[in-house]
Amino acid sequence: MPSSYKLSCAVWELTLACNLKCLHCGSTAGGRRAAELSTLEALDLCADLKRTGCLGVALMGGEPLLRADFFLVAARVRELGMELSVITNGTVAPEGVFGKLKKLEPRAVAVSLDAADPELHDRIRGAQGAFKKSRAFIERCLAEKLPVSVITTVHKLNLRELPKLRELLKGRGIAWQVQTAGAEGGRFSKEFLLDPEEFYSVGLFIEACRRQYPPEVLPVIGAHDLGYNSLLLKNVSLYEKWEGCQAGTAVAGIRSDGSVLGCLAINDDKYAEGNVRERSFYDIWNDPASFRYTRAFKKEQAGPNCAACPHAGVCKGGCSEMSLMKTGALHNDPYCFRSLEKDILKEELKNPLRALGLKLGGRAARGAGRLGRIFSGGREGT
Ligand code: SF4
Ligand code: SF4
Repeated sequence: MPSSYKLSCAVWELTLACNLKCLHCGSTAGGRRAAELSTLEALDLCADLKRTGCLGVALMGGEPLLRADFFLVAARVRELGMELSVITNGTVAPEGVFGKLKKLEPRAVAVSLDAADPELHDRIRGAQGAFKKSRAFIERCLAEKLPVSVITTVHKLNLRELPKLRELLKGRGIAWQVQTAGAEGGRFSKEFLLDPEEFYSVGLFIEACRRQYPPEVLPVIGAHDLGYNSLLLKNVSLYEKWEGCQAGTAVAGIRSDGSVLGCLAINDDKYAEGNVRERSFYDIWNDPASFRYTRAFKKEQAGPNCAACPHAGVCKGGCSEMSLMKTGALHNDPYCFRSLEKDILKEELKNPLRALGLKLGGRAARGAGRLGRIFSGGREGT
């Protein structure tokens, strides 16, 4: 029987092959997985996703454009009436890529850009010349009127690049998604993870941008799992209200070998619900035994960080991946904005208007305490 959960987006790692070696890559992409889906299997999966009621598919990698059948699969997604998003590093441009993308009328073509400084971007991405290629890719998308967006993954190495990236992107009609790096990848040293103060400062930065620039000038959002339930800030993601981890309730992740998880950010086989080679995606999604950690969550399961929180029932203890990464357990995210504000911003909370009035990089930032100093360059030890 079909489940009552509607699949709004399937995030599909089309291949784990990648030409870059990004430090923060959560799946340590580089080589293909041992047994990636064949073209026929991928096309069948498109039909199966449609049968499941999937509204949109985001094709990512690795680098999805490295797959020779990328446009076959992408076209099938569109023929079946599902929305298409493409997430690329922007350094691979097969023959005719922009014209072909245009024909597909994608919802978004998202290109990763981690710094405004070419050298730093190249260092983070593990390849010289990556910045130049990605910039050129973005410019071609703009010229072709493709709905291009930029994704920036933030960690200690590039936190201070945010104001410079803002200057690069504003007024260009480029949507900007800011997200934070996790610790799952094999190339990423945990010392580069943002500390709580830095993590919160990313939320403040987004809020300040939104106050300073109208969405036509700088459409900036935090990733859907950044922050939430703040006592001070609006939800910095696209949605007004945070409704808890969507893994297995509205989104699903598919690995290139056909295994299905609630979310690809959770890079742990323990959370694989099945493989489309053994059971159809439709069966996996509609199985009452699937995705129990979100679908069957009960308030009593909230961990110590969340047990007394009035949001726990809806929030389910925050982002599952963040909770696992930080505490080793689900439903216990200590990095939601509510927790951060309670735990580390006691001083700023005494004067919330000052914290909210932050104009990053300017005079106000220099006067706004620890958080302002992160972006104004006056912070020691980073
Ligand atoms: S304390 Fe836990 S339940 Fe409350 S908002 Fe934060 S993550 Fe959600
Ligand atoms: S694990 Fe985190 S990133 Fe993944 S769907 Fe849940 S909230 Fe979103």
